[in-house]
Amino acid sequence: MPKGRHAFDALRPSHRMKVRFDRETCIGMFQCVAEWDTFEKDEGEGKADLADSEEVEPGVFEREIPDGDELDAKFAARVCPVDAIEIYDDDGEQIV
Ligand code: SF4
Repeated sequence: MPKGRHAFDALRPSHRMKVRFDRETCIGMFQCVAEWDTFEKDEGEGKADLADSEEVEPGVFEREIPDGDELDAKFAARVCPVDAIEIYDDDGEQIV
């Protein structure tokens, strides 16, 4: 099987857009929660939580963006006042 992208890769779940959330940077203003319901409030810690994410580095969480949630995810990233949310396309390029 040759390495590299195939025409149908974009249809596979493993090639979806990705969100990366730096919870250390988050200051708990919760604008993201209003834009995308995958972000949840943790009022106790004054931080957002990214549901069903994986901690890839201490305090940094990632997950794939489900089909249909791409716009909401991008809005969540744009409204964050401290740029704690980054969005990557299916090639791994940062787009927000
Ligand atoms: S908008 Fe940014 S700072 Fe505010 S809760 Fe979401 S991630 Fe944290």
